[in-house]
Amino acid sequence: MEGYSVLIVGGGLAGLSAAMHLKRLGIGDVAVVERMSGDLYGRYHRICGEAVSERCLKLSGADRGCIVRSIDSIKVSCGSTDIRFQVKGHIIDREALLESTRDECGAIMVNASVTGVEPAEGGFLVHSTAGDIGCRYLIGADGAFSVVRKDIIGTSPEVKLAAANHLVERDSETSELGFKISPVHPGMYSWDFPSKDGRRSIGSTYRTEDPPHSVEKGTRFIVCGSDRTVVEGNCCIVGDAAMLANPISYGGIGAALLSGRKAAEAIAKDDLSSYQRWVRRDVMFDRRFMESFNRIKGWDAKDVEQAVAPFRKGFSYPRALYAMMRHPMLASVYTSIWMGFRRGW
Ligand SMILES: Cc1cc2nc3c(=O)[nH]c(=O)nc-3n(C[C@H](O)[C@H](O)[C@H](O)COP(=O)(O)OP(=O)(O)OC[C@H]3O[C@@H](n4cnc5c(N)ncnc54)[C@H](O)[C@@H]3O)c2cc1C
Repeated sequence: MEGYSVLIVGGGLAGLSAAMHLKRLGIGDVAVVERMSGDLYGRYHRICGEAVSERCLKLSGADRGCIVRSIDSIKVSCGSTDIRFQVKGHIIDREALLESTRDECGAIMVNASVTGVEPAEGGFLVHSTAGDIGCRYLIGADGAFSVVRKDIIGTSPEVKLAAANHLVERDSETSELGFKISPVHPGMYSWDFPSKDGRRSIGSTYRTEDPPHSVEKGTRFIVCGSDRTVVEGNCCIVGDAAMLANPISYGGIGAALLSGRKAAEAIAKDDLSSYQRWVRRDVMFDRRFMESFNRIKGWDAKDVEQAVAPFRKGFSYPRALYAMMRHPMLASVYTSIWMGFRRGW
C-alpha cells in the first residue's frame, strides 16, 4: 500500500504522545491528521481541568516542563461532609504540552477532517477532506466520537457526559483538587481546580449556573465504556477514542498519554496485541469502575447521604473499613472511588 507507515487520526494528547514515542523508537514516515487549527484547536483543548497524576505523567514520558503546580490532596464534598485523600499529581499547561510534543514528534501534520476509514490491501485507506491517504498502521486518536472506532473497531460508549468547564478569575494558590458530589445527580459532580495565571477551572457534568468572573467557557464530551477491544489487525484506538477515561474520576489525560505510548511501543514491535493486553490488564481500565458508576447512577439522594454518612468526621482507613462492614453492598463502590482517585487520573 502506498502511503505512510503509521497514520494517526487526531492531534490531541493521545495522538501526539503516540507520534512522539514512534519518533523516539526510530519510526519515521508518520503523519498526524488533525481537523482543527489555530484558536479553534486551542479553545477545544483548554476545555479541561488539566489535572494528571504523577504516576501517569512519569510513565508516559511526557515533557515535565508543562507542570504548572503540584497537587497533594483531593477533597470530595457532599453537603457538609468533606472527604480528603492524599494524592500526588499536577496541574499542567495542556496547550504547552501539546505544543512541545508536536515539536518533538517531527511527524507530518495534515490539517484535514477524516470522514471515513476502510481496510485496504496491506493496510488502510483513510478518507479525509484533503483526499484519500493510505497507511500500513492506523491509530485512532480522534477523541470521544472517533470515526476510526466506529468504522474499524465497532465499539460504542455506554456513557456520554456533556461537561462544561469555565476558566474563572479567582485565587489559584492551592495544591488541592475539589470535587462536589451532587445528591440529586448521582454519578455526576462539579469540580474546582487551581489553574494558572490567577485562574481556576470550574466545571460540571450537569447543568449549573455559570460561576461569577468566568472568562472562558467550553463544553466537551467525556465518554466511557467497558468494552476493552482496542485493536483490529494493524489498527488501534487510544485515549478517548478507546473510551479510556475513568468513569469515577473523569480523568483521561493520563490514559491518553500512556495509551499513545503503549500503542507506539507495540507498533515498534510489529505486534499490536501487546497494546491490547495492556489495556485489558491495567487496573486503570478495570471494568469495576464502570460497574460502580452504573450503580451510583441508580441511587437517589437518600442513597448518596447513606454512602457518605460514615465519613462525616473525615476519611480514615479504619472508618472506611467500618463503613464497608456496615454496608457490604457499598464495598465495591467505596473501593472503586478510592481506586479512581488513586490510579484513575
Ligand atoms: C470539561 C472536561 C474537563 C476535563 N478535565 C480533565 C482533567 O482535569 N484531568 C484529566 O485527566 N482529564 C480530564 N478530562 C478528560 C480529558 O480531557 C480527555 O480524556 C483527553 O483530552 C483525551 O485526549 P485525546 O487525545 O484522547 O482526545 P481529544 O483531546 O479529544 O483529542 C482528539 C483530537 O482529535 C481531533 N479529531 C477528532 N475527530 C477528528 C476527525 N474526524 N478528523 C481529524 N481530527 C479529528 C480533535 O480535533 C482533537 O484535537 C476532561 C474532559 C472534559 C470534557
